[in-house]
Amino acid sequence: MNALTATNRNFRHAARLLGLDSKIEKSLLIPFREIKVECTIPKDDGSLVSYVGFRVQHDNARGPMKGGIRYHPEVDPDEVNALAQLMTWKTAVADIPYGGAKGGIGCNPKDLSRSELERLTRVFTQKIHDLIGVHTDVPAPDMGTNSQTMAWILDEYSKFHGYSPAIVTGKPIDLGGSLGRDAATGRGVVYATEALLAEYGKSIKDLTFVIQGFGNVGSWAAKLIHERGGRVIAVSDITGAVKNPNGIDILKLLTHKESTGSLKDFHGGEAMNQNELLVHECDVLIPCALGGVLNRENAADVKAKFIIEAANHPTDPEADEILSKKGVIILPDIYANAGGVTVSYFEWVQNIQGFMWDEEKVNEELRRYMTRAFRNVKEMCKSHDCNLRMGAFTLGVNRVARATLLRGWEA
Ligand code: GLU
Repeated sequence: MNALTATNRNFRHAARLLGLDSKIEKSLLIPFREIKVECTIPKDDGSLVSYVGFRVQHDNARGPMKGGIRYHPEVDPDEVNALAQLMTWKTAVADIPYGGAKGGIGCNPKDLSRSELERLTRVFTQKIHDLIGVHTDVPAPDMGTNSQTMAWILDEYSKFHGYSPAIVTGKPIDLGGSLGRDAATGRGVVYATEALLAEYGKSIKDLTFVIQGFGNVGSWAAKLIHERGGRVIAVSDITGAVKNPNGIDILKLLTHKESTGSLKDFHGGEAMNQNELLVHECDVLIPCALGGVLNRENAADVKAKFIIEAANHPTDPEADEILSKKGVIILPDIYANAGGVTVSYFEWVQNIQGFMWDEEKVNEELRRYMTRAFRNVKEMCKSHDCNLRMGAFTLGVNRVARATLLRGWEA
């Protein structure tokens, strides 16, 4: 199912549970602004190439719009719209004073040289600089982008508006980035997992984990689970998949990936089929890559008891239904992966304060925010008699609806 159709369906379900007025429901669904720009750059060989860039600003009732910028060949307007909407509910679930946005460029960053990526990022920034701002819309990294991308956006934006470190988060530390931001999404996933497992009297060290995706989020989640004594029995990324029933030595796998750029030929485990990974026997499955990976084709075969959605919308609504019937507990994306944007908020606060926190404070505050949000989600599950996904959606939608009503519509 298309990402936007799926996201809208979850939103409408939450609106029904909340008994939301249909006019508010409609206004929350329509994005505040959708931007589509042409980005033409000279390649290193002198030829010209054109890409399409997007920024969807979904809602700003609770504060400046916030969300990442994705460089991926599958970036399209519907996907960016869905991701922007998810950011609105995510920032509200985390209870940070932001709205939601998302951006992207339909390109394969692996096919571009560093200087081509820099030119593309600068051209994109030139096209949107008037529509973003420290108190308007604050971009961050997402798939295919990183702290270097943010440094280029910061530099280009500053040419027009003066030096403004708070215009982006997920920056390099040397330019005002926050300690702990790089690990934040993965760390938040682990705090969220701990909060969920505690409800069932379980802890990470007693369980087996399968992790799909070994980029920024997946590798940090794997490392922190490994550190806590959890047994990571299978890991995959686009280069391959590896399994070891006794537990993979994640530090060795990280070193292997750093030196070879791939999961292939790792001696600490056996190669496996990437598609089989999602249906591999385990206690906890953590999808950390693209959306829609759990769908009606494979949901019935999933063996995990818990699914932690570190990726955005990894579970299609049809899969959601099949998995729920099987009794699988799903911790939804708009809560489970909110650690990244939460530490982005801490970074923005530090930039505005002009004061840098130490890493211990960042991690401690992150744990506090993730634990509080879990409690709030559970309260909504109880009062609306619903599962965790609807608990998170009703929590987020209700907070945004309240802010919208308080601000009013008078022209
Ligand atoms: N791209 C991340 C997400 O999907 C982080 C967004 C941010 O920090 O603004 O939540």
